[in-house]
Amino acid sequence: MPEALFPPPSTVWRVALPLPLPRLFDYLPPAEPSAAGDPVGCRVRVPFGRRELIGVVVEVGPPEAGTDPAALKAVAARLDPEPLLHGELLDSLRWLARYTHAPLGEVLATALPGPLRHGEALADTHAWAWRLTEAGATARERLRAGKPRRLADLLAEHDALDEDRLDELLEDWRSAARALAKREHAQRIAVPAAQRAPTPQPGPALNDEQQAATDSVLAAGGRFAAFLLDGVTGSGKTEVYLHAIADCLARGKQALILVPEIGLTPQTLARFRARLGVPVHALHSGLSDGERVRTWAAFARGQARVAVGTRSAVFLPLREPGLIVIDEEHDGSFKQLDGIRYHARDFALVRAKALDVPVLLGSATPSLESLRNAQAGRYGHLQLKRRAGQAQPPRVRVLDVRKRPLEAGLSPELIERIGGELRAGGQVLVFKNRRGYAPVLLCHDCGWTAHCPRCSTPLKGTPMTVHGGGRRLQCHHCGTRRPAPDACPDCGGLALQSQGAGTERIEESLAARFPDFPVLRIDRGSTQKRDALEQMLGEFGTTPGVLVGTQMLAKGHDLPNLTLVAVVGIDEGLFSADFRAPEKLAQLLIQVAGRAGRADKPGEVMLQTHHPDHELLHTLLSGGYPAFAEVELAQREAAGFPPFAHMALIRAEAQEVEAANAFLAMARREFERVAGPRGRADTVLEVNGPVPAPMPRRAGYLRAQLILSAPERRPLHAALDAALPAIHAAPEARKVRWSLDVDPADL
Ligand code: ADP
Ligand code: ZN
Ligand code: ZN
Repeated sequence: MPEALFPPPSTVWRVALPLPLPRLFDYLPPAEPSAAGDPVGCRVRVPFGRRELIGVVVEVGPPEAGTDPAALKAVAARLDPEPLLHGELLDSLRWLARYTHAPLGEVLATALPGPLRHGEALADTHAWAWRLTEAGATARERLRAGKPRRLADLLAEHDALDEDRLDELLEDWRSAARALAKREHAQRIAVPAAQRAPTPQPGPALNDEQQAATDSVLAAGGRFAAFLLDGVTGSGKTEVYLHAIADCLARGKQALILVPEIGLTPQTLARFRARLGVPVHALHSGLSDGERVRTWAAFARGQARVAVGTRSAVFLPLREPGLIVIDEEHDGSFKQLDGIRYHARDFALVRAKALDVPVLLGSATPSLESLRNAQAGRYGHLQLKRRAGQAQPPRVRVLDVRKRPLEAGLSPELIERIGGELRAGGQVLVFKNRRGYAPVLLCHDCGWTAHCPRCSTPLKGTPMTVHGGGRRLQCHHCGTRRPAPDACPDCGGLALQSQGAGTERIEESLAARFPDFPVLRIDRGSTQKRDALEQMLGEFGTTPGVLVGTQMLAKGHDLPNLTLVAVVGIDEGLFSADFRAPEKLAQLLIQVAGRAGRADKPGEVMLQTHHPDHELLHTLLSGGYPAFAEVELAQREAAGFPPFAHMALIRAEAQEVEAANAFLAMARREFERVAGPRGRADTVLEVNGPVPAPMPRRAGYLRAQLILSAPERRPLHAALDAALPAIHAAPEARKVRWSLDVDPADL
């Protein structure tokens, strides 16, 4: 073929496609261009094999040397005349792809709302309003009682009502509006997207600590600065956020507030709406695709001001950014555990820096990472040490249940105390920590538990998991195995048992014992939907009763009549294999305890344990979370764990464990190759494994893992950059499903 007839193309479009391949794909520009501007950041439809895919153009340039022009296909269609992703957001997402070592196409697909990912046009973001038709005005009085009637009555009081206002006035008004529209009783009309002037409601006067914290944030003058708002439960952190947001609005800017999954309650939204006096847009997994895209577009166009959302809201485009807040910054739900394993808090910090806006992280129990950053001077450390207003901190009592008979895990003293509280008119929360994947082999006579001889430290034991119907013990951390003892090695007793009464057994037992009071169980099994939880708690009300639940009850819905919190079954957490377990347990205990007691009613917390002398409990009870954090940070530093080291986790799963292990062994060789021979002085990368994953078998797959660790971020990422291409390409990789998690949440 004479080359002159097929001159190489002068430019190609490099497209990021949502495929698990760490590369971009080159296409010729479309044959019939639909728009002339720079295509970077625009979505395109492209042929791929026998299908078509939607991707995003991320570069334009000459084809790579040696490209066969005949092999290049053309873009089928350009979907956006103007870039959808550009500026800071596109740059930050490129950063995220590099940091997570994930394909850019998959990162972009994760960041975009579903309909945009699938190629739909950017939603129209006219402001819309509803009004009654003449027919509706006449028919209104004859409508049956119900939502449509309530909506019709509301509309009758106004010429027209903005959808934003309806969000505030009537829950689920959209279905009612559809019902009215169907009978032509109401109609939807477009109104100009006027910026309503805020009509805020005043809050309580700030106390000195709150004022000082607020002043520090405002002193940043809208430029990048990171703050840790470290304030005990009920200290009024939300008031500080509200002042910072009000200042941001006064500067004419947009504010993004990230909250944990369980924290985004109607109560929270109502408080923000009332206090800020502007529309507040909620972003969570319960939204319809349409609502999500409209909100996305309204922020991209600078038409909306305040968003409150869960993890993925961190990808919201901000045209006029002014502030980012992360409430309960320690919360585990900010870390995505599959797909692109990003941490919304960490990404929010990256974005705040790129956007040059202040970022405020708040918690009563800050993550050790954030505390460390505050101590190192990277974050301003704002402290609120007292509860706001008149509220007192709850009293905490430890209940030693060694040798006590337990009923569904509850001691007689605790059951009696619960009964007393109920009869006195209080509400009780029984908290059962279900965290932990495996039972612990426990001596009921003396409190001994089976620890791994190679992993345990005095403060932080590592339990052996019971296997083989009780005959075998295994450490998931290092792989050690040994037969289970017949008798307790410490006291010789025979009362060895696997621990475990779950929330259901507790609920059943309490319901039988207190038939005159409602017993409500709250866990992921009983509440599939966010609204279900709110509804159940709403119906539970403020009359005497018992709530039994998991960490879902550690925050969220406000429970003003809660006077007793009973914490049971935390002992597993005291001896978990995960190095983050003590931190998670301490946070959970403080958060759950913080739910007890309000201004007018002091609260009490009862902590039932077989380990009343455990150092973690001692430290926490005597010195609170700050004392715990100090001890734990010292331990982490000594052991070389985060935040004093940086980790990545490679996990492989396969039908046969040999395939997973062979893949990980290959990966290990690659890391050792790029990091240099072992024992060399400049070798800073530590590679541990392959070892079984904490859940060694899931959904029929056997899982193993490799843990990479380095004292600094840079050598870890350098090793990943150098080794991953070969790992991706290795034949062993085709026989397993594998994933990489940078800064893993649990090991
Ligand atoms: P946090 O977010 O730290 O848990 P909140 O901001 O929700 O705390 O405040 C806890 C309670 O104290 C709320 O009912 C709030 O209205 C009240 N509160 C906050 N600040 C003050 C204050 N300065 N004076 C009186 N009450 C306050
Ligand atoms: Zn014993
Ligand atoms: Zn071990």
